Amino acid sequence: MRQIRHLIDGELVDSLDGATFESVNPADQTPWARVARGSTADADRAVQAARRAFDEGPWPRMSPDERAAVLHRLADLIDAHTDELAELDTRDMGKPITQSKGKDLPRSAHNFRFFADYQRFVEDESFPVATPHHMYTRYEPVGVTAAISPWNFPLMLATWKVAPALAFGNTVVLKPAEQTPVSCARLGELALEAGVPPGVFNVVHGFGPREAGEGLTTHPGVDLVTFTGESNTGRAIMRAAADGLKRLSFEMGGKGANLVFADADLDKAVDWSIRAIFTNAGQVCLAGSRLYVERPVYDEFLARFVERAEAMRLGDPLDPATEIGPLASEEHWRKVTGYLDIAADEGAKILTGGRADGWWVRPTVVVDVDQQMRVCREEIFGPVVAVQPFEGEDEGVALANDTPYGLNAMVFTENVRRAHRVAGRLRAGTVWVNCFFVRDLRAPFGGFGDSGIGREGGKYSREFFTEAKAVVMEL
Ligand code: NAD
Repeated sequence: MRQIRHLIDGELVDSLDGATFESVNPADQTPWARVARGSTADADRAVQAARRAFDEGPWPRMSPDERAAVLHRLADLIDAHTDELAELDTRDMGKPITQSKGKDLPRSAHNFRFFADYQRFVEDESFPVATPHHMYTRYEPVGVTAAISPWNFPLMLATWKVAPALAFGNTVVLKPAEQTPVSCARLGELALEAGVPPGVFNVVHGFGPREAGEGLTTHPGVDLVTFTGESNTGRAIMRAAADGLKRLSFEMGGKGANLVFADADLDKAVDWSIRAIFTNAGQVCLAGSRLYVERPVYDEFLARFVERAEAMRLGDPLDPATEIGPLASEEHWRKVTGYLDIAADEGAKILTGGRADGWWVRPTVVVDVDQQMRVCREEIFGPVVAVQPFEGEDEGVALANDTPYGLNAMVFTENVRRAHRVAGRLRAGTVWVNCFFVRDLRAPFGGFGDSGIGREGGKYSREFFTEAKAVVMEL
């Protein structure tokens, strides 16, 4: 078994109390890594290292060009280790290797390159004033960042936090999800190799409540917390961080609405709708898990959608032909399959899909649903889509907006006026029209309602990861 230790102040270390836990490969259901289980005392060690590196070390004081050079080296190292890192994520959580290698790894390297360059080229403001004064802004690093990441895109979502935090001159303690610690542990080693100074980037493994995670969110030495995970975890972190008045950025759950109008290009709409819900076996915050189809094309759309869902290939996630891997853990498999029972109990009909052997779930399509059913209201986070017909734009928009979440929505229509009108009416952080998952790291990313607090990406990340200071000088 692989041995995974914390990275604190540039050293790989065990937990102070020697505790460990196992990371299980969901494809064969066997433990494959033994991981240091961090306590609040281990979190404290890591925060102290990050604190010293911020207060006394070179990193926050380097020029943007110098920091960019280090982060570009790290991006190059990620590229050079693509095969290895992709396999680590696939073994840890069961996502198909084509996804981890083809999508998550390039994006992980891009996260570092983008923010390395962004902080070099972004402009500051100067304000013309009537009096003889010169007034301008400085954007300075905030301090020690606690980055708490989920298991569904292990390396990609960790780098989405770590890259901007480091680029803007902060120091970091990352706590990866307990289900998927291995690629983030490697990231720590590669960061040292790239020349990130000891203590600037630390990785503490383990669980949230009362252990490593909470040790970070309650620590007086932590200035800001960037968290991606469930909305209820966000609530707990917000309470824990309140006494310290920490700066918070939360990317949380979703229940994405996907509106297919009768005037849509159905080939495209079916294709994107399949990808929107079944990519990564539906374990995607942005999943299009509520599918609303306008009545005139409902039957045709549904028939084509079901045919495509049934053709998807379940299998070994390391096999490049596999489209649907196992769910990430037994606990998660129980949660997702529990919703299939809940749907049946509530009177919905499972048109296709359901449990498969091991921790796999077939692409599942649920119909005869109404808005009050739990399958329509709660985040299932698996390959399960609830489909309903709607009549006209007003009803479609009302159904889409009838949710506590608001991370993203999709609209399929060939009518350009409708596209813009509906995009404006939907309460969601990202609206994709005739597409899904197209991202540019300059754009704001985050959610309305229970889906998030704050935005990240480009200037939004700068706002979060820096202190804006006004300097006023008499001329
Ligand atoms: P989770 O909330 O269970 O865990 C996320 C992280 O929080 C883990 O590292 C966990 O150890 C830590 N944690 C848990 N309790 C904590 C506590 N009390 N204090 C500090 N840390 C704590 O989420 P998950 O199951 O790993 O991920 C799935 C969830 O993440 C889904 O709800 C999904 O929608 C969401 N997600 C959102 C986005 C987004 O961008 N909005 C992206 C991916 C996933």
